[in-house]
Amino acid sequence: MSKKTYILENLGCANCAAKIEKKILELPGIEEADITFATKQLRLTADHPDHYIEQIERIARSVEPDIRIRERKGRNAGTKIHEHNQCDCDGNHQEHCSCGGHDHEHSNCGGHDHESHDCGGHCQEHGHIHDSHPAHKKEELAILFGSVFFLIGVFLPDYAPFPANIGIFIAAYLILGWNVLKNAAAGFRNRQIFDENFLMSIATIGAFFIQEYPEAVGVMLFFRIGEYFEHKAVEKSRHSIMEAIDMRPETVSLVKEDSVFIIPAEQAMPGQILLVRAGDRIPLDGTLIEGTTRVDTSAVTGEPVPVSAVPGDSLISGCLNLSGLIKMRVDKPLEESMVSRILECVENAAAGKPKMERFITRFSRIYTPIVVIAAAITAIIPSILTGDWSYWIYTALTFLVISCPCALVLSVPLAFFSAIGAGSSHGILFKNGLSLEAIRNIKTIVMDKTGTITKGTFEVVEIIPLDSDYTKTELLSLFASCETASNHPIANSILTYAREENISYLSPEQTEEFAGLGIHAFLSGKELLCGNRKLMEQHHIDCSAFVPSSYGTEVILAADGHLIGILHIEDMVKPESKEAISQIHQMGLQTAMLTGDHESNARTIAASTGIRTVYSRLLPEEKLITLRKIREKNGAVMFVGDGMNDAPVLAGADVGAAMGNGADAAIEAADVVFMSKDLMAVPQAIAISREAVRTAKQNIIFALIIKALVLILGFLKYANMWFAVFADSGVAFLCVLNSIRILYKFKK
Ligand code: ADP
Ligand code: MG
Repeated sequence: MSKKTYILENLGCANCAAKIEKKILELPGIEEADITFATKQLRLTADHPDHYIEQIERIARSVEPDIRIRERKGRNAGTKIHEHNQCDCDGNHQEHCSCGGHDHEHSNCGGHDHESHDCGGHCQEHGHIHDSHPAHKKEELAILFGSVFFLIGVFLPDYAPFPANIGIFIAAYLILGWNVLKNAAAGFRNRQIFDENFLMSIATIGAFFIQEYPEAVGVMLFFRIGEYFEHKAVEKSRHSIMEAIDMRPETVSLVKEDSVFIIPAEQAMPGQILLVRAGDRIPLDGTLIEGTTRVDTSAVTGEPVPVSAVPGDSLISGCLNLSGLIKMRVDKPLEESMVSRILECVENAAAGKPKMERFITRFSRIYTPIVVIAAAITAIIPSILTGDWSYWIYTALTFLVISCPCALVLSVPLAFFSAIGAGSSHGILFKNGLSLEAIRNIKTIVMDKTGTITKGTFEVVEIIPLDSDYTKTELLSLFASCETASNHPIANSILTYAREENISYLSPEQTEEFAGLGIHAFLSGKELLCGNRKLMEQHHIDCSAFVPSSYGTEVILAADGHLIGILHIEDMVKPESKEAISQIHQMGLQTAMLTGDHESNARTIAASTGIRTVYSRLLPEEKLITLRKIREKNGAVMFVGDGMNDAPVLAGADVGAAMGNGADAAIEAADVVFMSKDLMAVPQAIAISREAVRTAKQNIIFALIIKALVLILGFLKYANMWFAVFADSGVAFLCVLNSIRILYKFKK
């Protein structure tokens, strides 16, 4: 079994995506198939996914004739879901147009500091396989000529003989409706009688038969215009969202023997030297080797304050090089660099469909048949009763027009995708739609203390010797030796301090780390224990000499069974913690803090930030148990931690959020990744999630109300086909606009 991702080019309608997916799943040998409307991706699991491509393309085309399938590759492999270096090639549908690549100013042309580049005719010159979207051009022409004929038809009756009038309407109808009729015929052959094209054709041909000529043509015109705007809006939304997410460079400037070559980004290999100009994005993950600069990491971490970078510093792709011309060494190729990982994460996120979306897809499968049956009944029963056949047939036809569930099926995924994009521009990566949706049910936010509420960078305040055999310097050296074994924030801080004080330390012969407790090590024949009181108690060490302090954390050191010293460290509460916690409370949520630290310090920190409940002296496993208790008592919980030693807790929460850590382990275990360490990301993520769900609901309710209104008006003898077309594609269009609103609301 292998899994592969493809792109369905020209996938235009959400309902079609659902239909195609269902049919692909019916193919024998396909293990899994998942189509994500928002990214046009098809994820296929089968023994040899490539073997099915022809069959799948046939299926896709029976639903939407323009679809083409291609493999999903890096930026330069054919057309892409998104072009970073996009320019607005007016009129021409812009999605596949790129003006980048011909010079190295490429990042000024796309990305976030986006300016519409005038790339007029030369868009196609840069060797990309563009399809300049003939479908859209044709659509525009059809609409243009169709409306001209339609207007002639409407204004002609007074002067022209009757048959000429009909002729013009038929001509207009064919210009506008030819594709619809063609697709309807194809759909009919595939026994898809609930297909939108088929129903639209029946409705308009029916109108011809009851001699509502202008109506038949006008409705078709209106339908095409609606579809056109709907598709454009979808494309534009997809595009803006991807633009917020996809920061992959198209080309990089390679430095080789004093000359600079522009090469495709995916050809840059680790070890090569790249030139990055001020104002450009860092193209790949690497190390600064020449020049100094300031780097704006906000696109990657959401952190607003630029950081300075000097030779030796590592650079993360996607960050903006603000001030200097620099040279960097490539450490990771394109596909492993941060920009690709972020993109992948978001694409995966869009593929994990929220429950609402699954529900609405199921609902639409019954919605259409029900409305069609209602239409059939309406055409017959009231007609027999009243004798007014033409009115009731007309009403039935309006029902057929609204029977397409497009707006419904579209309304959820686009709202969620928009929210995922909004999150990503704040350094909040939702792993999938499900977790984005789940956040709104959360009752309690449970947070780890160290690194989440506090900065996690400890200051060494003092060293207290408890045994006259050891000086402070010797103690610090021993503390540092033990901590070489750990990458806990405490360990990092002690090692940094030792280095600053120029204290030398040895590597222990043997070490063992106990999560939530500390270190056990052997060094020059001595058995050392370095950690908290619990660790000492577990090893039966007499702690009577030890006096706990009320604030800060102690790291205790014991050698060969007795205490020799204490290192007092203090962590700072993050400046925004208080505000973030108060916002969480304002959102009606509870807060709790879990920590392995001792109680008095935990209480002090909780009091200074406003956290309501505190659990201290917990081992990592006990954190999970405590979390479960909170969950039983209050309902769903979100856990926010650094993902280092609390991966099980992350996984055990309804929503696990890893903070300030793009490490693979954290991404693996978490449902949400906060790229920055800023605690404000928590209320922000909640707000985005709530907005996504609210918007999706608004869309669904709006679409259903308008559709219901058309049905009711029809029965009340106010049936109107124009209104029905609005209820179909007009509503879909408005739902798209409503969805994309989320992106702009939260975008920086
Ligand atoms: P938190 O819940 O604050 O994130 P942890 O569970 O990571 O804390 O650790 C709990 C306690 O265990 C720390 O406060 C510290 O006393 C002790 N500890 C853990 N790792 C180490 C270490 N490497 N060195 C010293 N003490 C440690
Ligand atoms: Mg921790």
